[in-house]
Amino acid sequence: MEKFSDVVVVGGGPSGSFCALNMAKKAVSVIVFEEHDEIGTPCHCAGHLSITGLKNLGLYPLPKRVIENVFYGVKIHSPNGSEFTIRFSLPTTCVVNRALFDKHLSDLAKKSGIRYFLGSKVDSLTLDGSLAKLLISKTSGETFKFSSRIVVDAEGTSYKILRQAGLTPPEKGFVYCVNAEVENVNNLEPDKVEVFLGNTYAPGFYAWLIPKEKDVAKIGLGAKAGNPKTLLRKLMHKHPAASKKLKKAKILQETFHPIPLGGPIKRAYAHGFLVVGDAAAQVKPTTGGGIILGLNCARIAADVAVEAINTKDFSPKFLRVYQKRLMKLLGFDIKVMREIRKILDRIHDKELDNFISLCRRNFGEEDFQDLIETDFQGRALLRAVKKPRITAAIAYFLLLSLKSILK
Ligand SMILES: Cc1cc2nc3c(=O)[nH]c(=O)nc-3n(C[C@H](O)[C@H](O)[C@H](O)COP(=O)(O)OP(=O)(O)OC[C@H]3O[C@@H](n4cnc5c(N)ncnc54)[C@H](O)[C@@H]3O)c2cc1C
Repeated sequence: MEKFSDVVVVGGGPSGSFCALNMAKKAVSVIVFEEHDEIGTPCHCAGHLSITGLKNLGLYPLPKRVIENVFYGVKIHSPNGSEFTIRFSLPTTCVVNRALFDKHLSDLAKKSGIRYFLGSKVDSLTLDGSLAKLLISKTSGETFKFSSRIVVDAEGTSYKILRQAGLTPPEKGFVYCVNAEVENVNNLEPDKVEVFLGNTYAPGFYAWLIPKEKDVAKIGLGAKAGNPKTLLRKLMHKHPAASKKLKKAKILQETFHPIPLGGPIKRAYAHGFLVVGDAAAQVKPTTGGGIILGLNCARIAADVAVEAINTKDFSPKFLRVYQKRLMKLLGFDIKVMREIRKILDRIHDKELDNFISLCRRNFGEEDFQDLIETDFQGRALLRAVKKPRITAAIAYFLLLSLKSILK
């Protein structure tokens, strides 16, 4: 078999495939190695995505089979069951079948000439300043060597190849998640997702309910402490609002996976090496959504890799431009989202109850149209604070969080 390509992408998840797709037709040879025999499985993700985010990447509309539902807003529940709904005039988000979404991206890449090797795990990587050298092991047990000018690491949260490249993975800020598909859900509201806040049920994160069809939904939660599986049962049976819908629900399947929530790694490049997606922790610190940010970064990585090949410069000095472009795209929004996460982590459940009740008393469902941008939340907040009523709500929220800190 051929032993060399200009670029090797490690991992056929969304970030890896989208990066490969963006390098296609640019006169560079690209190979994607994916350790599993099939793209998209096993799936650990809820697949809730912003429609604007997909449109900006040229990915919307998606094929019908990929989209499971679209949503006009979100219902937010506090721990004691107070609720507030934010509704937009247009469909704002959608939920995708993650396996089919990943396959769709890899099909687009394959159609553009990218070659995939499935059941092929990159076991080791050596970067010695010349070609990158990789050792691949196949599910059949066979191993082989491969080399490339550039490696794009899209391995997700395993961080094995990242470490071998001499880069530092995120050390803290992980939440441990469970995602489940359930049937027999009561009173599903098909046009909105539901979010459950508070440390009683999801310490350090939140729980979600995403309607799919009829009485079927995706549910899940993340937590910084405690067992996510046990916490999900507690939510289903004890939460004043969730239990009304989920007490009799049957779990069809359940998966567990971490989310790196602490913000992108400080350095996402080395000699002949770029990192994208979860492998670089390119994830929203507020919601844990990583797909749209990962795809945006994958597109930047593709441009930089092609530029490096065209100029024959694979040095860290040249590839540093990737980090600069990432910071330009994400720097401000990540900073804002990290601050919001810090506040959410500190606020007590009682204060959350008060805040959600206040929103319900003082705001209509359609008063938060300016927050329609769900990916770049720093910019969305800047737009929203121009409205005095929203500024007042934010000020009250900050006051409550201060009260929590001082308690
Ligand atoms: C419970 C849960 C729910 C989530 N819900 C959402 C959501 O609703 N919306 C959202 O935007 N994000 C969500 N996320 C985050 C989202 O799943 C990730 O941000 C996204 O999957 C990152 O894509 P990726 O391509 O970077 O990595 P991954 O999707 O993890 O893909 C990495 C790929 O690399 C392969 N691989 C790893 N190591 C090797 C190797 N050595 N050799 C070859 N192949 C390898 C893996 O098999 C995998 O296919 C959720 C995460 C969790 C845990």
